[in-house]
Amino acid sequence: MNSQLTYVFDPGPVASIPVVGIEARFPVRRIYCVGRNYAAHAREMGRDPDREAPFFFMKPADAIVPGGGAVAYPPGTADLHHEIELVVALHRGGSDISPADALDCVYGYAVGLDLTRRDLQAEAKKQGRPWDFGKSFDQSAPVTAIYPVASHGHHDSGKITLHVNGELRQQGDLSDMIWSVPDTIAYLSQYYRLEPGDLIFTGTPAGVGAVVPGDKLLGSVEGVAELNVEIVS
Ligand code: MN
Repeated sequence: MNSQLTYVFDPGPVASIPVVGIEARFPVRRIYCVGRNYAAHAREMGRDPDREAPFFFMKPADAIVPGGGAVAYPPGTADLHHEIELVVALHRGGSDISPADALDCVYGYAVGLDLTRRDLQAEAKKQGRPWDFGKSFDQSAPVTAIYPVASHGHHDSGKITLHVNGELRQQGDLSDMIWSVPDTIAYLSQYYRLEPGDLIFTGTPAGVGAVVPGDKLLGSVEGVAELNVEIVS
């Protein structure tokens, strides 16, 4: 019966990301993003990292830019910021997942940018409004191919950096995360039923800042991958 469904217009392609070493792609269902998960970044945003439980926002699945490359400077902002992040890709889900079981849900890892219209986010914070206009816009989530756990293992330490035009802007280590990958999955699964295809952007280290058209960004997570993005007008 379901195979006979028709639509009033073509719903378009499923948002998906290449997987290293195999032809099949990873279909993206939802993108969850952790806020302020590195102490030094929490401090640069004016927060005390010790007092807060993790919090989350989301981006639409079609905000991904698979493989990075050219990304258009988005409308409505004069302060587009880079946030380099480790991305976790799930092939298994559930509710109330324990930290001990959480890594079984992980299919692989990638490197992503949580591009942010910082001026719109700051205004939303001031007005007590949602962050969507600051965070959830088109092309706001460039991401590398996914490196499967089966062939590349898990990653709980390693340098995470971002260079802009060859200059080091962001620097940290995955081991500095306030909420580890297993803790993040466990916490999130208390509020949402996680499903295969979900991505989690795990937060950014200190050093966020603005980019403009013409800037070349090189993001890297040691042992995972490098992401190249050029901001174009
Ligand atoms: Mn972020």
